[in-house]
Amino acid sequence: MGKDLSRLPAVEKILQAIGTHEQLPRPVVLASVREEIADLRNNEEEIPPFEEVVQQIDRKLATLSRTRLVAVINGTGVLIHTNLGRSPLPNRSAERLTEIATSYNNLELDLNTGERGKRAGFLEHSLAHLCGAEAATTVNNCASALVLILRHFVRAGRHRVIISRSQLVEIGGGFRIPDILLASGATLHEIGTTNKTTLADYREAISEETAMILKVHQSNFFMGGFVENAQTTELSTLAREKGIPFCEDLGSGAVVNTEEFGPVEHEPTPAEIIDQGVDLVCFSGDKLLGGPQAGIIAGRSDLVAGIKKEPFYRALRCDKLILSMLEEVTTSYLKGNTDVPLLNMLATPMEALRERAEKIISSISELSAELTIGEGESRIGGGTMPKSAIPSITLDIKPEKMSLSAIAKRLRYGKKPVVGYTSDKLYRIDLRTVFTWQDDDLAEAIRAAFSPAT
Ligand SMILES: *Cc1c(COP(=O)(O)O)cnc(C)c1O
Repeated sequence: MGKDLSRLPAVEKILQAIGTHEQLPRPVVLASVREEIADLRNNEEEIPPFEEVVQQIDRKLATLSRTRLVAVINGTGVLIHTNLGRSPLPNRSAERLTEIATSYNNLELDLNTGERGKRAGFLEHSLAHLCGAEAATTVNNCASALVLILRHFVRAGRHRVIISRSQLVEIGGGFRIPDILLASGATLHEIGTTNKTTLADYREAISEETAMILKVHQSNFFMGGFVENAQTTELSTLAREKGIPFCEDLGSGAVVNTEEFGPVEHEPTPAEIIDQGVDLVCFSGDKLLGGPQAGIIAGRSDLVAGIKKEPFYRALRCDKLILSMLEEVTTSYLKGNTDVPLLNMLATPMEALRERAEKIISSISELSAELTIGEGESRIGGGTMPKSAIPSITLDIKPEKMSLSAIAKRLRYGKKPVVGYTSDKLYRIDLRTVFTWQDDDLAEAIRAAFSPAT
């Protein structure tokens, strides 16, 4: 093929012509440029003019830059948004994190004796209190907590895990309870029907091969109508009678009465479930608890001790950074401090949101769009409390010259990315999930999205 390779631009020339791409290290930029030149050499097409090549590389580098972890303004109204990093942490946890992260610490040193100490001893003690449990420990996330619990109880000859058909759920992101069971070496022993599983179903299922009874909180869906499930208290009595461990995966793990914070239902707390006689519970650190990503296991001290001896425990344990933040969150709750971003957002009254909306709108003038105050619904999200629909206030944008997807893109591409949602031919930003201290940035982002310069 007669391709004119003399038109192939030199690396140096391109490097001088492209934008700054501040966030990208030079070796990364260099590799991208070389890759592009190699593509131009090897593909079938003619080599485009120099400016076009530069533009193409700039676009690629900008795309790459946007994959870097940055703070995002959450206008979706979803409080625990998995794509947006789930729960934001309280400032004081971040301060603790900085303190522990940037110096040495007593992670495994007992300051009382000067000898080797128990890792996360204080945290485990506090968590046990918070859950009304004999003992507690932590791992990377709730998924690994569940795997660890399963692996602890599943043995050759005792491998069947009893679970109701109504709880064979998919949590999200391909996390399916039956798959987790199988991957943990368990045999699924499903009982009952989708809508009805009785105590007798459990009783009949128990055999010498039963490793444990598992309950899974139906986090992200709910059933109505002809629905019946064996009571947890009855089940724990049965389990104890038969000497079978009984565990519950709670998923979100609220440690406060959620209904006292906003118009949402009561989410069962670990303490309530343990009080009903369940041997072990597990739940996430970064859902309703409002802490860092972690999986918390709480319950009988002999079982928690056994789990901590599992070889896999060592592979799944939390690092000092997570431990420092979780310790802060846990002790705060124990001190009665519920000043947690998630709970504050849930509790924010409509009037306060409306005032903020008015302020933001009055600070923006001459927009080539209609900007009005709307009423929407926030959700808890994160695969929890699917019934929740919390009245909220939105900024509704109706662009004059742009499509809704174009405005969405401009807001995402901004210096401080904003993510809202589209509905009823409007681009909407729910203020419940926007921090008050972000209001000025939000106003600036909206202005910038409509300014011709961007
Ligand atoms: C969210 C959830 C999980 C997974 O929790 P991670 O902390 O994300 O691993 C497991 N089980 C239930 C019931 C959940 O809701």
